[in-house]
Amino acid sequence: MKKVRVRFAPSPTGPLHIGGVKTALYNYLFAKKHGGDFLLRIEDTDQNRFVPGAEAYILESLKWCGIEPNEGVGYGGKHAPYKQSERKEIYKSYAEKLVNEGFAYYGFDSVDKLNELRETAQNNGDNFTYGIYNRNELKNSLSLDNGTVEKWKQEKPFVIRFKIPENETIVIQDEIRGSISIDTNSLDDKIIFKSDGLPTYHLANVVDDYLMEISHVIRGEEWLPSTALHILLYQSLDLEPPKFAHLPLILKPEGKGKLSKREGDKHGFPVFPLQWKDPETGEISKGYREEGYLPEALINMLALLGWHPEGEKEIFSLSELSSEFSLGKVSKAGAKFNLEKAVWFNHQHLQRLSNEEIVSQFEKLLAEKNIFSDKIKISKLVQLVKERINFVSDLWNETNYFYESISYDQKSIEKVIKEDTKEILENLLAQIQLQTNFSKQNVEETIKQWISASSLGFGKVMQPFRLALVGSLRGPDVFDIVEILGKDETENRVKNLITHIS
Ligand code: GLU
Repeated sequence: MKKVRVRFAPSPTGPLHIGGVKTALYNYLFAKKHGGDFLLRIEDTDQNRFVPGAEAYILESLKWCGIEPNEGVGYGGKHAPYKQSERKEIYKSYAEKLVNEGFAYYGFDSVDKLNELRETAQNNGDNFTYGIYNRNELKNSLSLDNGTVEKWKQEKPFVIRFKIPENETIVIQDEIRGSISIDTNSLDDKIIFKSDGLPTYHLANVVDDYLMEISHVIRGEEWLPSTALHILLYQSLDLEPPKFAHLPLILKPEGKGKLSKREGDKHGFPVFPLQWKDPETGEISKGYREEGYLPEALINMLALLGWHPEGEKEIFSLSELSSEFSLGKVSKAGAKFNLEKAVWFNHQHLQRLSNEEIVSQFEKLLAEKNIFSDKIKISKLVQLVKERINFVSDLWNETNYFYESISYDQKSIEKVIKEDTKEILENLLAQIQLQTNFSKQNVEETIKQWISASSLGFGKVMQPFRLALVGSLRGPDVFDIVEILGKDETENRVKNLITHIS
């Protein structure tokens, strides 16, 4: 079997959508599974759609996600350069070969003329397409004599169009979708080489996939309609086509249709891996990284938005994905994005991180708040609340009362403070003051014994106690809190509540 070589071939027209990350991921996984190569090619032949910063964004996104190519833009390799704008010279000869062999032709129709034809068609409720049915009436090297063609080639801007053959059936063997037949009479004569001297996507893509020895083209389903033309290009150039696999889309959470940025904005979730600042408008779009997601979680979620492994297992590391992935288990139908599930994946992967890793991330977060706490305390806190958090940033909300002076939640005050609460707290304070060993176990034992002996009832003591320490009725086990706060601080907090309710 031919060596597996796959590529991710984005156009740098803006930030990379998570659908694009998914395409990159499936390519990466397929390459890893088969011991193959994963390339990054930048398809920037459409100069009008070029957006500054987009290429760097793509590279950084793949890096953050941990799915780096081993060849391509930013990585080098034997087929360099991997950016199409740096490969201009290569495509021209292929376009000319196609013209010389009768598979393509020069087109001289002006943009204005084509727009006019488009408009007239539209007014008649029709669609203008350039091709089989009208190419002989338009201005091109099929309809004009050789002399005019040679003359106009010197004088006018021209394009090269692919001449779609009539009455043929193109069969696409898609690794995911099976066999798809396309009638060539339904295709138009696409421009393959533009008047600016650059190829269009179709020609550049086919030529590069051939030259870069790509074995499998794994890309989004939006490219399926172009594939018949690509197969015709391979045939006409007498090249062996790669295998094709068209991936399902990521759909909106509800209803049909592709997950768009607008949808993300509406529901407040990111559709991009990293935050993006639009270079023109300055508008900021949210990113998974900045929202506190772990790359492992994003990758795991994207892997399962279209790929269905056997069994019930849902949590996968990148290396597990790499060994289990197969195109055969990718579905044809799009998968709906689900925000709760995204959060759930983050929760699950966060629980799998070592405490040290979470501690170091939390330390950074505290430092931003000018809090420089000792590692042992942070580590205890992390251990205490880890199970409750979905994001590292949740650690602050779960533990802020350890670092800040507390204010009392009014509802909890109303619920907990009764006539005898002050006296109970004073007795509790006395018990605390008596403690010499302030370990969780010791304090817990003493306080519980005292509660039983005084037959006060557990809730009557423990609820005001919690309120004194936390400011509300939330949080982990009271005796865990007590141990971390230490004797002095526990005493202070109980005293403060006594003063507050006096
Ligand atoms: N440049 C295309 C894109 O932006 C590549 C499609 C393909 O993989 O062939 O997605």
